[in-house]
Amino acid sequence: KPMEGRITDIGPHKYDEYFPPVIKKNFGKWLYHEILEPGVLMHVAEGGDKVYTVRVGGTRTMSITHIREICDIADKYCGGYLRWTTRNNIEFMVEDEATMKALRDDLNSRKFDGGSFKFPVGGTGAGISNMVHTQGWVHCHTPATDASGPVKCVMDAIFDDFKDMRLPAPVRIALACCINMCGAVHCSDIGLVGIHRKPPMIDHEWADQLCEIPLAVAACPTAAVRPTKVEHNGQKVNSIAIKEDRCMYCGNCYTMCPALPIADHEGDGIAIMVGGKVSNRISMPKFSKVVVGYIPNEPPRWPSLTKTVKHIVEVYAANANKYERLGDWAERIGWESFFKLTGLQFTHHLIDDFRDPAYYTWRQSTQFKF
Ligand code: SF4
Ligand code: SF4
Repeated sequence: KPMEGRITDIGPHKYDEYFPPVIKKNFGKWLYHEILEPGVLMHVAEGGDKVYTVRVGGTRTMSITHIREICDIADKYCGGYLRWTTRNNIEFMVEDEATMKALRDDLNSRKFDGGSFKFPVGGTGAGISNMVHTQGWVHCHTPATDASGPVKCVMDAIFDDFKDMRLPAPVRIALACCINMCGAVHCSDIGLVGIHRKPPMIDHEWADQLCEIPLAVAACPTAAVRPTKVEHNGQKVNSIAIKEDRCMYCGNCYTMCPALPIADHEGDGIAIMVGGKVSNRISMPKFSKVVVGYIPNEPPRWPSLTKTVKHIVEVYAANANKYERLGDWAERIGWESFFKLTGLQFTHHLIDDFRDPAYYTWRQSTQFKF
């Protein structure tokens, strides 16, 4: 028992140390749950215990004062317990309906100075939950777009659907700021992916001094990177060559070698994917498919991106059958009809198995063929 009693700061504590008492008591004995209204869930256990959950939207970056306010609410209503979901929602759990109603009304009444909700209740069922997203320009090194900025603007545009459940089925939206996709973009109803469109630049002055060149070679999934010698300032220096028509602009080599920066004002932007899901209702889980190849980065309000996402949601809402996820709907009517109804332009860039030397080592699936 080498770990028993050991106090360590490596990794999180065991999750069940933080269960509210009613969750601990009924662990493994929950029978079913219902969504009573947007943002409010009721779970019922075998023995009759109930838990009411009020879900509110949060953000990935929060101020200390905001977190203190969240903790004060949890102290007042929930015995100090609360939980964060993977979508950055905050869930407050109580054991009786009267407390739930008081908590819900309290949360809805808390506003910022400008009048917007501090703790919007919603994000459940056939609506839009908070967006999963990645790091963005400030926090990672390979992003082709921001994360927090476009996510804030897209959520502003579709906020009403966070607070109601008027859609045919849940719509899960995610943003990853590069194609390494540390978000859930590949299996979301709508996925926003930052894409680079140009190969890395090569800084011959520093390549040999900042990089282990063999690591940069090994990092490239398409074997586009090779070592070379170049003339620099009158001297032959060890450096890197990139075969541009093999490059898929993933940025992996830059991860290994800071002398290969890939961020580019003109080349970078966002692709939109739709139709992914992890649910197996109606059809098997599926990956998202690219439906918009490129939207330029337009900070600070990202108008083209937000307009396109809002438009896709509205066309889906007007045309899908009840319970159909976006991908189920598109498959039932056919992807040709999806493009006709949405007015999105179909180009050869959207075909998954597009055969091109740059793509020989990926995009080999037979999905999404006309
Ligand atoms: Fe970094 Fe890519 Fe993840 Fe964005 S998606 S945080 S750029 S690895
Ligand atoms: Fe290879 Fe990706 Fe670097 Fe292009 S960006 S050279 S594909 S590792």
